[in-house]
Amino acid sequence: MNKIILLKNRPHGKPTLDDFKIITEEMPAPKDNEVLLKTVYVSVDPYLRGRMNAVKSYIPAFELNKPIQSGIIAEVIESKHADFKKGDFVSNNLAWKEYQISDGKNLIKVNKADAKLSSYLGILGMTGLTAYLGLMEIGLPKNGETLVVSGAGGAVGTVVGQIGKLHGCRVVGLTGSDEKVSLLTSKFNFDHAINYKTAKNLKDAIKTACPNGVDIYFDNVGGEISDAVLANINKYARLPVCGAISLYNETEIQLGPRLQPIILTKSATMRGFIIGDLKEKFPAAIKQLSAWLKDDKITFSETLVKGFDNIPQAFIDLFDGKNKGKMIVEI
Ligand code: NDP
Repeated sequence: MNKIILLKNRPHGKPTLDDFKIITEEMPAPKDNEVLLKTVYVSVDPYLRGRMNAVKSYIPAFELNKPIQSGIIAEVIESKHADFKKGDFVSNNLAWKEYQISDGKNLIKVNKADAKLSSYLGILGMTGLTAYLGLMEIGLPKNGETLVVSGAGGAVGTVVGQIGKLHGCRVVGLTGSDEKVSLLTSKFNFDHAINYKTAKNLKDAIKTACPNGVDIYFDNVGGEISDAVLANINKYARLPVCGAISLYNETEIQLGPRLQPIILTKSATMRGFIIGDLKEKFPAAIKQLSAWLKDDKITFSETLVKGFDNIPQAFIDLFDGKNKGKMIVEI
């Protein structure tokens, strides 16, 4: 039998296991021009939370009682499609199913010999691209500038900081545990990291860590953490707005400081982006990230959770900061 994970309820606030349902079905069989895929690695990502709400956004909401989808690496175990053979590994946005049929459309072949398979969901996949393009296209890092990264211990943040260092920035990360603070400075080359949960006054802690002010703020979290960074920005600061995880489970619209006077008086540029809109830049970005990886100029971490049934819990754990680097479920 084949297992599938459905969205049972639209979460109210932080998702719970009760919002998901595991069902079984007969094993599917491929027809002509189709392949049978076996899920190998599943990416769980904060943006999936937004798709669980019944709201119009840049990407359609998940339907109730239908499978959830995310980035998946799968193995072709049977092929009736000319472009794929048994044993190929592919990547795509696929359903949370142990086995599924595909017509091959949008499947991208990934090569086990070139890189660790799971890395195609992280540093050589969506989160690596987000880090690279968000920083390079909007952050515009320059030698000697100060870059602050929130959500620094996650999949995107760990890569942003390292790319900032490669461009000569002083890099300061904000994260939620002392263990991740140490990891950022020891493994990911950050100059300094701050535990936002224990800092007595985050605005002052950032001021101390950034004696020359903040030139680039790569924002993964939004909310009060970002308010504290914005109070420290320099003239002509650039602020790529990548994510707002601190607000994804809020049930009411939050009010914070009005930003216009800061953005105006600092002549700052604050720009949101959705990585899917930058597709034409992906090939060059992947080429650069692969080269840096190969030359040991950048590295990555994964938190690997095992077992298909544990996908929902791994997703929920993102909101408690249980991951270091990319959260991945191995099936
Ligand atoms: P990860 O899933 O790797 O990391 C998420 C981290 O966020 C957690 O480990 C946790 O770390 C932190 N976090 C969780 N809750 C809060 C909170 N309430 N306040 C502050 N921090 C919190 O995330 P990614 O690196 O994959 O993604 C980072 C951000 O970028 C997300 O907001 C995501 O939605 C966004 N994103 C945007 C894309 C785009 O196209 N714009 C594409 C990909 C991602 P800690 O221990 O530090 O709290």
